[in-house]
Amino acid sequence: MTAADSTAASTAERTAAACAEISRLDAGGVSTDRAQLVKVSSDWSRMSPVLQEKVPAGRYVADAVVRPTRPEQVAQILAVAYRHDVPVTPRGAGTGNYGQATPFDGGILLDLRGLDSFGLTADGTLRAGAGARMTTVDKAIRAQGRDIWMYPSTKSSTLGGFIGGGSAGTGTIEHRTTSDGYVVSATVAPMDGSGETFTVSGDDLTPYVHTYGVTGILVEVEVRTDPVRDWTAVYTAFDTYGELVSVHRRLTGLSVLPRLASADEPALVPTLTASVELDPARFSLRVIAESSTVEELRTLVTEGGGDVVAVLDDYGETDRLSGMSYNHPVWFLQRAHPERNLFHMETSGVPLWDRPDDVREVYEGPVHLHLELFQHGPGAMVVAEYRGEQALLDGIPRFDALGVGVHSPHQWYVDRNVELAIETAKRTDPKGLLNPGKLSAAPPVDTRLNMGVR
Ligand SMILES: Cc1cc2nc3c(=O)[nH]c(=O)nc-3n(C[C@H](O)[C@H](O)[C@H](O)COP(=O)(O)OP(=O)(O)OC[C@H]3O[C@@H](n4cnc5c(N)ncnc54)[C@H](O)[C@@H]3O)c2cc1C
Repeated sequence: MTAADSTAASTAERTAAACAEISRLDAGGVSTDRAQLVKVSSDWSRMSPVLQEKVPAGRYVADAVVRPTRPEQVAQILAVAYRHDVPVTPRGAGTGNYGQATPFDGGILLDLRGLDSFGLTADGTLRAGAGARMTTVDKAIRAQGRDIWMYPSTKSSTLGGFIGGGSAGTGTIEHRTTSDGYVVSATVAPMDGSGETFTVSGDDLTPYVHTYGVTGILVEVEVRTDPVRDWTAVYTAFDTYGELVSVHRRLTGLSVLPRLASADEPALVPTLTASVELDPARFSLRVIAESSTVEELRTLVTEGGGDVVAVLDDYGETDRLSGMSYNHPVWFLQRAHPERNLFHMETSGVPLWDRPDDVREVYEGPVHLHLELFQHGPGAMVVAEYRGEQALLDGIPRFDALGVGVHSPHQWYVDRNVELAIETAKRTDPKGLLNPGKLSAAPPVDTRLNMGVR
């Protein structure tokens, strides 16, 4: 296809031509089955009432899904797509909740789940294909004596998707976010017509982490691990928020940092998927504690006026706790109460511990808090009833005034290292074909307000 042909043809026609070539080159499986396309073209943005309206399933649909199974195929696919001017949107398990894997301009949806091989290196790091799922990886490397540094509450999601679109999770109390040394190196396929990949490490990784694939596709990643530890799932309960907080804030003092410490107020407790019975009238704090610290933890809880409800040393129970962390309790509440049209804001800062009532005042009630623990203090999903986009946005300056950090899960633009991503993409994606619509042309004034107009 010549340049003139490529301009005249529609995206669907260019995608068909590119896919014919991809098939000829044996560079990946191609499907144009409509039902499959609709399915893989949407993600978990349905958690946001704003995104439900703007990017509902079926509104933006890829023209083809391409599934590589060998790392070298990714660069081949991108070289063909570049020649045909076809947009390519990468996707792992599609659990991202900002609509960031939605193929706004159609083209190819690049399903990377087939790149699922992995292994430990001699240095004890993990090298994995972008499509490797963290459940599988964690199980295998624990049997070989290593713990992955961090995984999200969506543990069955892919490593490439977690690094490309996620940020924190189980392991964050010790290791912070995916931008804080989690990734050692990455093999990246650029959309520059080269048909090649390059490897980045250290500070050079920054424009490829949490930038939704707009600067290049992560083909393989190397991430850090720790020597394996024994982890125990501990359920505790408190009568008041103050008591709960008195313990939550002391958990970083345990002799080994916990892997996770999630807490919910009573409104969220009945919909949690706990393996033990939880009192719906009490505040729930759940900790993945290193086993030797369980007695220390028990003392903290008792001193704080709470009760230890259960201590479960089966590793599978720590997975269950992880599955009730971060966005999950919000989703459980939404699922149980579809009539309430709930939304959440991702927040952080000590006022979440000290001034919960002021935080609740940010939105018209009822407002609920789900807490997580970071090294530097608490984070919270603030859950409230949706009363329109403007009312949601109006809360942001109120959080600011309280000294509470806020991140909006209601917009799809790259919102970290934006300037660097824009500069990098000029080299790695000069035609703007990678995950179109997720990178603003100029750094936005405030990404939290940058809701998009699609
Ligand atoms: C209920 C719920 C709970 C969640 N909990 C957490 C949590 O605890 N912590 C957290 O950080 N996130 C969380 N998330 C968000 C999301 O599940 C995670 O970030 C997850 O790891 C994303 O992985 P995925 O394989 O599903 O990626 P996808 O959703 O498929 O992709 C995520 C983003 O990365 C891009 N991408 C995918 N693969 C690649 C690649 N190989 N190269 C470059 N870019 C790529 C996609 O285009 C997209 O922009 C949660 C979401 C939901 C719905």
